[in-house]
Amino acid sequence: AKDDGKGVVRRFDPLRFAEAAQRRRDEHDLRRALAECQFEVHYQPIVDLNGQHTVGVEALVRWRHPVRGLLAPGDFIDLTESLGLMDNLGLWVLREACVQAVQWQRAHPGFKLNVNLSATQLASPELTDEIRTVLADTGMPADLLVLELTESAALTDLTESARVLDSLKTLGVRIALDDFGTGFSSLSHLGALPVDVVKIDKSFVQAMQESTANGSVAEAVLHIARTFNLSPVAEGVEDEVQAAMLRDLACTQAQGYHFAKPMPAAELTGLLDRQTTI
Ligand code: C2E
Ligand code: CA
Ligand code: CA
Ligand code: CA
Repeated sequence: AKDDGKGVVRRFDPLRFAEAAQRRRDEHDLRRALAECQFEVHYQPIVDLNGQHTVGVEALVRWRHPVRGLLAPGDFIDLTESLGLMDNLGLWVLREACVQAVQWQRAHPGFKLNVNLSATQLASPELTDEIRTVLADTGMPADLLVLELTESAALTDLTESARVLDSLKTLGVRIALDDFGTGFSSLSHLGALPVDVVKIDKSFVQAMQESTANGSVAEAVLHIARTFNLSPVAEGVEDEVQAAMLRDLACTQAQGYHFAKPMPAAELTGLLDRQTTI
């Protein structure tokens, strides 16, 4: 037993001890992964719902773990954030994805790139300068870069977010609100931020066929988007029924397993080569 200094005697807890040990191992692994660059960027097509062709991609980070294999962000983003390393990783993803997108734009002019920004990146005073440098170094056209941020990241401090987003907009990039509809955004928030695109959260898309009430949520979200002159992109489209419903609601762009899963750059190059137009 151990006195924690507050007069409370706590017994040794093997489970907590094991968890702490695991966390130290994870932390060590993650720092090493950054140093050795074990990360990759995968790309998921964003398609035109009418022509079904790829208009751009969303960059999604992966960790090629030497023992555990390919890990999705859910397995390491929180830890990366808590270690204060998300800014580094996020900037690396942006640079890597811009280098790649410029290649695709040679054969497909106008090809767009969406990159996610974390809340900590958004809070960093250097963000605009860092992105300006990446654009200059890679030759990525600013107007083809879409920066995605979640509603919760954008709306915790509305005044500050508006300032940061205005600063980003001076670069010529576009801004997307991610997971749209899941946060607490009221209409006044939408009007206050210089947003160009809303990504309609997959929960609404996937609930569409289940009931008319849920269907009308997706419809209402699309209506809001249109009212504020924002381009909607539906997320998580998994079958043709959902795609058809979205088309009926005049949603023009979508992303989801129905069209393609996130894939390594080389695979996406192959997919683009097989498409005649974009
Ligand atoms: P997100 O930005 O909402 O990205 C979409 C997620 O939905 C991706 O998960 C994607 O693989 C998944 N998805 C795509 N189509 C479908 C579908 O039809 N059905 C279902 N059920 N899921 C689909 P992923 O790659 O695991 O990424 C999870 C989250 O991690 C992302 O959610 C994003 O918030 C975060 N993330 C990924 N890469 C980055 C990054 O480079 N920086 C930051 N800050 N966050 C990232
Ligand atoms: Ca996203
Ligand atoms: Ca999303
Ligand atoms: Ca999400």
